[in-house]
Amino acid sequence: MIPIVDLKRQYYQIKDEIDNAIRRVLESGWFILGKELQEFEKEFADYNDSKYALGVGSGTEALHLSILALGIKPEDEIITVPNTAMPTISAISLAYAKPVFVDINQYSYNLDPKKLENKITKKTKAIIPVHLFGQSADMDQIREISKKHSIPIIEDCAQSHGALYKGKKTGNFGEFGCFSFYPSKNLGAYGDGGLITTNNRELYEKILMLRNYGQKDRYIHKEKGTNSRLDEIQAAILRVKLKHLDEWNLKRRKLAQIYDKELKEVITPKEMDYAKHIYHLYVIRSEKRESLMNYLKEKGIGTQIHYPIPAHLQEAYKELRINKGTLPISEKYSQQILSLPMFPELNEEEVSAVINSINKFKD
Ligand SMILES: *Cc1c(COP(=O)(O)O)cnc(C)c1O
Repeated sequence: MIPIVDLKRQYYQIKDEIDNAIRRVLESGWFILGKELQEFEKEFADYNDSKYALGVGSGTEALHLSILALGIKPEDEIITVPNTAMPTISAISLAYAKPVFVDINQYSYNLDPKKLENKITKKTKAIIPVHLFGQSADMDQIREISKKHSIPIIEDCAQSHGALYKGKKTGNFGEFGCFSFYPSKNLGAYGDGGLITTNNRELYEKILMLRNYGQKDRYIHKEKGTNSRLDEIQAAILRVKLKHLDEWNLKRRKLAQIYDKELKEVITPKEMDYAKHIYHLYVIRSEKRESLMNYLKEKGIGTQIHYPIPAHLQEAYKELRINKGTLPISEKYSQQILSLPMFPELNEEEVSAVINSINKFKD
């Protein structure tokens, strides 16, 4: 069996460090908003070259709180892409805002800046580019349009921990960068978790309140807030793992290069010249996706589809009345994409076995 991801392998590599970190928190008797989170936030901000970092409950919450902090109101429009993990869209709905979709670029699989401007209306209050699969969106182009129309940017960095755009870390190209620590992300907790980066002091202070019942000082509430905090145990775990992130991303890139070089007959991902891709997922395209998937399953090779139904065609969003055919590249790709095994502990023999199977595949 070659799984698409195996989190146990990583745990056993760093077991002592992790076990010690968890024990340290248990023995401290302090579980919410303490030293571990404070230190992790400093370390992550430093890692990401961001001024501020704020640990929150999940990636979805990171996006939701960012939307609230910008003062976005019900009925306001937020532009994003239809081929993303649904939580990008959930966060928009949680704020009662309306998602507006822009199709993706055929090479980057990310928001196509050429299609962005004509989706902007008077109601557009934010743009959420997603750095999908670990590759940054084309931020210069997106920023130029956002500046021209004074619309803030919230980056969805849930799949891009450590990814670069023109040499600079994602999460620094807008008002907010929103990270997820869902266990299988490039930097994953052992439970739910998320984080917001910002370089703006005022916005930082607003999120500080929003994540903690809206209070500025204890029992003094300046905002209508919620409860969304990264707990001490997850923060302590993430402090251990953050030290390994660059080495793990490098390993993913090495495996991706082997796939790139050796895979025939399928379309491999393209690393854009502005990007340093960190391969959260390694996604190929094939016209015979379903039979390829079944064939690989018979060989004991795990695959998945990220994502099979674009957001605008999901039942939950039928009220938007966006017809099939409106966002053609996202729709076409959702029929062709297939994610192959990709995680830092995957070994080169396993990658070779996946490649051999795919290259021998006959429909
Ligand atoms: C994982 C993910 C999220 C949501 O993160 P959670 O921590 O699961 O809430 C948001 N956007 C994208 C693109 C993701 O991959």
